[in-house]
Parts: sequence; structure tokens; C-alpha cells
Amino acid sequence: MTTVKNIAHFIGGRRVEGESGRYGDVFNPTSGAVAARVPLASKAEVERAIADSLSAFLAWAAASPLVRARVLLRFRELVERNLDELAGLVSAEHGKVISDARGSVQRGLEVVEFASGIPHLLKGEYSDSVSSGVDVYSMRQPLGVVAGITPFNFPAMVPMWMFPVAIACGNCFVLKVSEKVPSTALRLAELMLEAGAPAGVLNVVHGDKEAVDALLADPRVQAVSFVGSTPIARHVFATAAAAGKRVQALGGAKNHLIVMPDADIDFAADALIGSAYGSAGERCMAISVGVPVTDKTANELVEALAPRVRRLRIGASTDPQAEMGPLVTAEHCAKVRRYIDLGLGEGAELVVDGREFSPPKHREGFFLGASLFDRVAPNMRIYREEIFGPVLSLVRSGDFDQALSLPNQHEFGNGVAIFTRDGAAARNFAQRVQAGMVGINVPIPVPLAFHSFGGWKGSIFGDMAIHGPEGVRFYTRLKTVTARWKESARSGASFGMPILK
Ligand code: NAD
Repeated sequence: MTTVKNIAHFIGGRRVEGESGRYGDVFNPTSGAVAARVPLASKAEVERAIADSLSAFLAWAAASPLVRARVLLRFRELVERNLDELAGLVSAEHGKVISDARGSVQRGLEVVEFASGIPHLLKGEYSDSVSSGVDVYSMRQPLGVVAGITPFNFPAMVPMWMFPVAIACGNCFVLKVSEKVPSTALRLAELMLEAGAPAGVLNVVHGDKEAVDALLADPRVQAVSFVGSTPIARHVFATAAAAGKRVQALGGAKNHLIVMPDADIDFAADALIGSAYGSAGERCMAISVGVPVTDKTANELVEALAPRVRRLRIGASTDPQAEMGPLVTAEHCAKVRRYIDLGLGEGAELVVDGREFSPPKHREGFFLGASLFDRVAPNMRIYREEIFGPVLSLVRSGDFDQALSLPNQHEFGNGVAIFTRDGAAARNFAQRVQAGMVGINVPIPVPLAFHSFGGWKGSIFGDMAIHGPEGVRFYTRLKTVTARWKESARSGASFGMPILK
């Protein structure tokens, strides 16, 4: 009998065994087998990680931004050197195909590159001689210990949206990654240590609700970054904000792609296929709703999509030929399958049915084929709710305004896209659509690291988006200094409101 290894936490610069006695299973989604056990931290273990980070904070905050930037530059080199291993870990626990896993680590690295410019990003403002001998200047200072809580679908990239910026700003970071995909974060923490980050600057604790709630309740945690589903984002936001913390909580999505009658249908179909079924639809920026404008466009689109969906190569996450791998767990796979049953029951037309797909070599894996629904109506649950699997729904629309009203009236507002050759229509769309990230002939408009990432409406709770300039603001607080230096400063007491002289 093979024994399943236990994964460790990473606290104070070393791997630490879990002590709570509670464990979760980590699966290999391709084979369906249990690959490891992840310790689920107790409140006391989380508190130890916070205390350890706090003990590292003062020295780290006092380090020159140049020193912090150099750690990140070395970290960047180490991640690059270990890219195959990291992508392998992402793919093995999540199930996404290896090329996709590599790409996700590389997108995370872009944030590290952005954060390496921290000496420039932290520069304050200066107003010279605002009064006689008086100057005003501002600075941005770190908050202290900050926490990150991340979802299963990007084991490297989403943590790297957070900790490089937070740490570059001078904070110490406690990371609680999804218990479904725990291993990648451990390697990232080891590489940060190797890059020169002092022990405690990045700690990783594994766990479930108990660990999250311990982070939200602890007064030593100054800010919380969360990415995950909307119900948990709402809970995290409400709890952490009530405890007086700064919070950014990014939630779920239902991203629409509008196909205008003048669009190149093959181009739009290829874009829909990649963005709906890449990573088996387990991306918060996946397109899950296509909106062809006019019936003629819809008929052409279905004709272009159906054979492409049937041709998708689905296989083991390690198969370099595979375009789509399994889903993350048996439970999630069953949930997505139930949504397909539900869509049929609600009266949508199932053009391609992925429910029976099962690769011969991996019968026990968490596989589902790609499914395509046509004639989905806005009142159906398969339209209103996030499915987070390889299911694309087409909602036919009569004209541009009707198409625009769909994302605008939806609960979520993460990403959205329009495919058209008409610049005026595209501009009109970008101005009026109610979503945080807009693509024009780009299906997955994930902003680059030097911009900020974040949706609107039920896709975000809190005011500030992640990484880019908003990330720097989120992880720092503003201090403004008014200083008087003049030869003779004595003018007697003044009891009025200070005014400029
Ligand atoms: P999830 O909400 O189930 O879990 C996210 C994190 O919260 C995990 O670390 C988990 O351990 C923790 N958690 C789970 N239940 C909890 C509870 N009851 N109390 C406290 N903490 C809890 O999300 P997931 O299934 O891991 O990830 C998929 C979701 O994440 C999708 O909804 C997807 O759209 C969303 N997502 C959003 C973005 C974005 O940028 N908006 C990016 C990636 C993923």
C-alpha cells in the first residue's frame, strides 16, 4: 500500500507540520486518486504564523525599497529557472494542461516585475514653500501584516497578484491558499526565502474556514486580499471590514462576449472556444455567455462553434497535445454536470453534450466534455449563476442595445468583450457597459500587471482592485508631512485655523 504524503505549512522560513489533527485530501484530477493530505490549520496555528510575520515586520519595513526590489528581482529569476517545476505542481493539483499552467505562472511573474519597480511606485508628492518656510510632502508607508486568501483555479498567479506588491511595499504577508491546490505556494515561499526575503516576510498556512476566520478576526492583520466565489467574498468583506481592516474581496463572474453582425465569425468562434473551454472553464475571466446579435449571426456562430467544440482535445493535464484537462474535484465535476441537466430542464437547446465524455485511460478522473447551449434565456439559472466549468451558453439578442442590457443587468460584472469591426459600436460599448474589464476583439481582457485587475458589482467587494497602481495604494497608507524650517520660526501662539501666508 502506498502512503500518501502530508503537505506542510511554511512559517518562519521553514516547512512546519500541521498540528491540528485535521487534514483535507488533495487529488490528482486526471487519475482521480488522492495525491496528498493537506493540514487544515487551527486558529492557534494561524495566530503563530501572524505573530511570526509581525516579528519580521519592523526590519522589513525599514529596509530600503531598493533592497526589497532586489529580493523581487532575484525571486523573478528563481521562478523563471523553476518554471517547469512550478507549472507541473499547478497542473498536477488543478488539472489544467501544462501549457496553460506555464502561462499562468508567467502572468504572475509580470506582477513581480511590476513590483520590482517599487522605489519609483512609492515616490510621494512634494509641494515646495506653501507658506513662509513651509513645505508639504507625502509618503506611502506599509500597513504591517497583511493576509491573502486565494481560490483553487490559479495556485500561482492569484497569490502572485498579491504578495509581491504587498511585500515590495514593506508589509509581511500571511498567505492562505486553496486547500485543493496547496503545493505551489509552498515552493513560491521557499523561492522567496532563497531570493533573500527574511524569514516571516512570507508565511503560508493551509486551511479551511477556521483558518480564514482566524485571519479575519485577528487584530494584528491590517488588510485582507481575497479572491474566490461571491458568497465567500461577501463574508470575508463583511467580517474583515467590521473588524476595521482594509479589504479587497474579488468574487465570481459571468462574462459575456457580444458578437456583432459585422464581426469575423471564425475569429469570434476561435476566441469563444479558447476563452470558454480553456482551463476547463475554471477561470474567473472565462467567457461563459456568447451573445450573437441577430438570428443570422447566431446561426452562423452555432455552425462555426459546434464542430470546434466537438473537436476539442481533452486529456490528461500532462498530455502536451491536450487543450483541456479534467475539472478540479469529483464534487465540482458533478456540480457542473448538474447544471447541464438543469439547462435541459429549463428548456435551453443543448447543441453539444459533454456529459458522457470519459477518456479511456482515465476513467476515474474528473473529466467532463465541452458543452454548448443555444437559446438560453436570461431568466434561466444556467444564465444567472456561475457554473465555472466547460459550458458555453448562447443568448440570442435582436440588437446592440438588447445585447448590452444583458451584462448590464447581470449580478456580476467582472470581464466582458465585444467582437466587431465597427469602432463607434466598440467605443459606445466600452463607455456604457457595467463591468470592470472590457475587451474589444479580445476575449479575456486581463489587464497587464501595471494596470489593476478588478470587476464591478457582485464581482468585487471593497473599493480597490488588485495589483498595478491600486495594489500599491491598497498595501500602503498615506502620510502627509507639513514642515516649517526657517531661520526664525518664533511668532507667538496662534489660535485660529492655520492659513497660508
Ligand atoms: P471559494 O470561494 O470556494 O474559496 C476561495 C477561498 O476561500 C479558499 O482559500 C477557501 O479555502 C476559502 N473558503 C472557502 N469556503 C470558506 C468559508 N465558508 N469561509 C471562509 N473561507 C472559505 O472559491 P474557489 O472554488 O476556490 O474558486 C473559484 C471561485 O473563485 C469562482 O467563483 C471564481 O469566479 C472565483 N475567482 C474570482 C477571481 C476574480 O479575480 N474575481 C479570480 C479567480 C477565481
